[in-house]
Parts: sequence; C-alpha cells; structure tokens
Amino acid sequence: ETVVNRIAAGEIIQRPANALKELLENSLDAKSSSIQVTVKNGGLKLLQIQDNGTGIRKNDMGIVCERFTTSKLVQFEDLNSIQTFGFRGEALASISHVAHLTIITKTCTDPCAYKGTYEDGKLKEPVKPCAGNQGTQIIVEDLFYNVATRRKSLKSPTEEHVKITDVISKYAVHNPSVGFTLRKQNDSNPDVKTSPNSTHVDNIRSIYGNNVAKAVEPVETSDETLKFSMKGYMSNANHPMKKPIFLLFINNRLVDAQGLRKTLEQVYTLYLPKGMHPFLYLSLNIDPRNVDVNVHPTKHEVHFLHEDAIVDKIKGAIELKLTGCNA
Ligand code: ADP
Ligand code: MG
Repeated sequence: ETVVNRIAAGEIIQRPANALKELLENSLDAKSSSIQVTVKNGGLKLLQIQDNGTGIRKNDMGIVCERFTTSKLVQFEDLNSIQTFGFRGEALASISHVAHLTIITKTCTDPCAYKGTYEDGKLKEPVKPCAGNQGTQIIVEDLFYNVATRRKSLKSPTEEHVKITDVISKYAVHNPSVGFTLRKQNDSNPDVKTSPNSTHVDNIRSIYGNNVAKAVEPVETSDETLKFSMKGYMSNANHPMKKPIFLLFINNRLVDAQGLRKTLEQVYTLYLPKGMHPFLYLSLNIDPRNVDVNVHPTKHEVHFLHEDAIVDKIKGAIELKLTGCNA
C-alpha cells in the first residue's frame, strides 16, 4: 500500500518546482502577505516555505497530510465551481510520501506554534508546542529519497533551481500585494525579492528587468456571453525579446494552454523581427464551471469551454494594440 501511494505521489509531485507550486498556492489560499522560500540543491535537499497566513489549527495537524483532506471543499458541488487554488487535498499527502515533511504553524487563536513531522500521510509522533509567529512553515527535506526512479529522471540541481525560480517569479508578478523572496540556503543575496503592495509592473521590473518593464503595456478584454475576462501586460512591437516570456494564469492558477500560447506568438511574428519574441503576462478569469477542473495536478495544460472563441477574442485585443489602430 505504501509503495503504491509512493508511486502515486511521485506522479503528482514530479519535481521540486511542482511541490513548490502547490505550497505557494496553499500559502496564497491562507491569505499570506509574505512568502519566503529557502532552497538547497535545487529543492532536492531542502525546500522550505514560510508564510504569515492563517496557520493550521492544532486539532487539524493530525489530518492535514491524509489524502483528500482539504479545508477548501465545503460540499461536493464545489468541485464544479472551485474558486480557490487547492482542489483535491493531495499536495501535502503526496509530499509526505516522497520526502521528510515538517510543519510548524500558528493560528491567531492558538497560544503558541506547533510542530509536526510526517511520513506517509501520518504524523510520526504527537505534535509538540514550539516557538513561532503566526503563519505556516513547511519544510520538505530529501525529496524523492525513497523514489529512486524519480530521482534519476531529474535534471541537475542547477536546472531544478531555475525551474523553482521561474515558478516563484511568475507567482510574484501575478500577486503584487504579496512580498516574495527566494534564496539559496546560506546565500544572503536572494534570487527573487519583491515587496508587498507592489504593482504588476514593479514586479515585472524587479524580476525580468527594466527593459522588459519599459516594453510592456496593459491589455484587457472580456465577453459576457463567453463568461470570461482577461487582464494583463504585453510587450509592444518596438521592444522585441530574445526569448519568449509567457505567464498565463487562469482563475489565479499558473497553467499552460499551448493553443493560446501558439496563437499569440504567431500574431507577434507579423510585428517583430525574425527570431524575436514577446513578453506576455495574461490573467484570465473564466466561469469556473467552464474550466476543466478534472485535470491531473501534473497536467498544467488546461482546457476550457468556448476555447476557440476566447482565444480569438484575446488575439484580437493583442492585435489591436500591436497595430495601434482603434478599429
Ligand atoms: P488543498 O490545498 O487541496 O486543500 P493540500 O494538501 O495542499 O490540499 O493542503 C491540505 C490542507 O492543509 C489545506 O486544505 C489547508 O487547510 C491546510 N494548509 C496547507 N498549507 C497551508 C498553509 N500554508 N496555511 C494554512 N493552511 C494550510
Ligand atoms: Mg493545496
């Protein structure tokens, strides 16, 4: 049973950056305004995230790592209209099957913080009181220590660190009210640092550089019958990028939608010199009932109802800006 769980967990958490994405979403769900990530060896030795959110009640600490334990589904119908990031209560459970997991957490009502260590979905020993501020610290050590196949399929720690940086950078651009930091353990210079109460453009500047920040302008569109709206920032025709930068959020989840991405890159080829690329950060809100929520957590590729019509609409909005005409 444990081996089966471990394999299943290794399917959900395929690499450190997947684990981090789940943990970031949990911290954001918990209404944190500060999220600090520390890693060692590309997250394989250590992946630690400290937030200042709501915390986990002491009484819930025994069950948070059991599969399908979630505080985010009130009733089953919610599965069809899920608004929060988390959807299945599988992230912490999966991580506890493939790593050494420690949680230190404090709510505003508990008198002190509590610490729990987990293995295969269960607490290893009763939770202990300890010192700590309000919020949650999740410490993931020795990721995949017990899944040799997964370990072997990974790239170098350096490449895993690049992927971690990419994920946190994108969440930082999308959540300018939250201050994010990413640092390597024992390295005083952070790889990512944003302030709380920034703007999207502030964070584009601090992460992607001033040239990108100067190149972007806002873009938006919406359609009532298609039940969607889109807001974001796009680079203009005068500021081509050497490589494409594409950030797509649907209902606040970082996702991939190859169809949309290809269509938009295609639009830009008409306006940019050959071999040059756009920067695009798009945040879509789509009626949750129209988004395919049944996707496996590893499939960042998302599909939604009226996809062709919505892609067309977004394409139109971007083309309009690129041509500069007000049709
Ligand atoms: P889900 O996010 O789908 O609910 P997870 O396995 O990611 O499932 O988390 C399980 C539960 O643990 C959450 O529903 C939440 O109650 C609690 N939790 C996890 N991380 C945090 C956090 N950073 N702050 C507060 N609560 C958390
Ligand atoms: Mg979650």
